[in-house]
Amino acid sequence: MKALVMGGGMAGLATAINLLDLGIEVELVEADEIFGGRASSWKDEDGDMIDNALHVFFPYYANLLNFFNKMGIEKNILWKQTEFYYMQEGGKDAVLRFANLPAPFHAAVAFGTLLKSYTGVPKWKLLFTAGAMGGAVMYSDRKLEKLDEISFGQWLCRRGPKDALLPLEPGINGLTFTPSWMISAKVMINWFRKVAADPDSARVGFANGGLGDIWVDTCLDYIHSKGGATSLKSAVTAINLDGTKVRSVTVNGEEKTADLYVSTMSPYSLRRVLPKEAFHYEYFRDLWHFHYAPSLSLQIWFDRKLTDVDVTFFSNKCIFNTYADLSNVLPDIFKGGSMFEMVLSPADNIEGLPDEVIFDIAIEQIRALFPVAREAEVRKYKVVRERQGVYRAYPGMEKHRPYQRSPIDNLYLAGDYTKTHVSSGGMEAAIWTANHCAELIALDKLGKTHSLNVEWKPKKGLTPFLKPATQVGAALGGLALAKGALKLLKASRSE
Ligand SMILES: Cc1cc2nc3c(=O)[nH]c(=O)nc-3n(C[C@H](O)[C@H](O)[C@H](O)COP(=O)(O)OP(=O)(O)OC[C@H]3O[C@@H](n4cnc5c(N)ncnc54)[C@H](O)[C@@H]3O)c2cc1C
Repeated sequence: MKALVMGGGMAGLATAINLLDLGIEVELVEADEIFGGRASSWKDEDGDMIDNALHVFFPYYANLLNFFNKMGIEKNILWKQTEFYYMQEGGKDAVLRFANLPAPFHAAVAFGTLLKSYTGVPKWKLLFTAGAMGGAVMYSDRKLEKLDEISFGQWLCRRGPKDALLPLEPGINGLTFTPSWMISAKVMINWFRKVAADPDSARVGFANGGLGDIWVDTCLDYIHSKGGATSLKSAVTAINLDGTKVRSVTVNGEEKTADLYVSTMSPYSLRRVLPKEAFHYEYFRDLWHFHYAPSLSLQIWFDRKLTDVDVTFFSNKCIFNTYADLSNVLPDIFKGGSMFEMVLSPADNIEGLPDEVIFDIAIEQIRALFPVAREAEVRKYKVVRERQGVYRAYPGMEKHRPYQRSPIDNLYLAGDYTKTHVSSGGMEAAIWTANHCAELIALDKLGKTHSLNVEWKPKKGLTPFLKPATQVGAALGGLALAKGALKLLKASRSE
């Protein structure tokens, strides 16, 4: 049996590996000139490492970590302290530092430390943020599902003042490339429940090298060692149907055939290459619900050190939101001065600007946040525009994400935008969907059960006791009130 995998990003390479492990012959075609898709890196004309964008890993990426373990590359993730730095005007930082205490106290302490120095909004407003997020940690999965109907901004505004959102905004923008008033409440609360689940789950991991360097070549070696074929600059331009089956796929003008076909291309690419009869299925019409949430990546090399922080920075009201000084994260690679790698998102209103203008805005904002940068010289900068974006997870989008098994008998889909409960996108979603796709193919085409995906389970901590404790507290309070009222009634009757 032969499979043709379309797209060589994380989902494509993982799908190819999974299918080869099932004994299926694999050919993978990638339109780009490098493999790795959005999780890739390359060297520029000076030999400097360019990441497609700053990527972070989390300990709850259970399936990605299993995949890296299987490839023997788990050590390529550098795990850092569980802390985030908010940089504010004039070099004043505020730190969200998670304590090594059972959940939810680890998060309460972190919030307490942030409260001390965060000046973006008055402290009393932040208490609403803490209250709302604390409550959300206790939400059931069913309640979470319903939250896909409203935006996170709407959800939070029902629980506190509008600007109480401010400290959460950089994280929301960095993860989803979307403002809080546009992003599904489910998406954000799902993420928050995970990072707040235990002291370890907010820990951030960085690639120990170029983002693509840490995983792409190992995957390609594995594929080739098992007889798989891969090719670059091989764009799929048409998927050709014969009734309810794919007959062939056109790649660079040539028809390629296989027994089964897996698309790991973006929804925008896929809907362009499907034949018109495919859109009689609602399943494929759903692809037209996907809109692109744009991002850019900016790398700036300075002639001196600006910071000694080796974790993630957040900043409000800048064109960047999440960033890191890679000279501290990867000191062996970035020597001699700071190298800031920054995610610029939502990039709707800046992606059309020339690189020089984007840099000028960013450097002015950096100088306001890091006074030492005012003296520093910029050695060079690079705006990365290719391989960007995620889909915009508006409220209501969950129901449009396509399941990995399509209505076409021999066509399957994988990729971070396809249906998964793990998240609305990201590397864990890419691996989860690649695994599920192979699980379905094993069942449908080989008649066997093949389990790849695992469920991430947080350490329980004390969070499970919070809901019963608040319910018992409320019941006791109610009882005390009722007793008091009864006493008053008796006293007034006896007068
Ligand atoms: C700025 C930025 C920051 C990010 N930060 C994080 C992060 O911190 N943590 C995290 O988990 N995730 C992050 N992500 C998301 C992460 O990169 C993606 O979720 C993941 O790489 C998706 O993999 P994929 O294989 O599903 O899709 P892709 O990587 O997009 O792969 C799809 C592949 O299909 C190919 N293709 C498209 N059309 C065709 C065609 N017609 N023919 C053949 N091939 C085609 C493309 O060239 C591409 O290689 C970030 C993304 C960006 C852009």
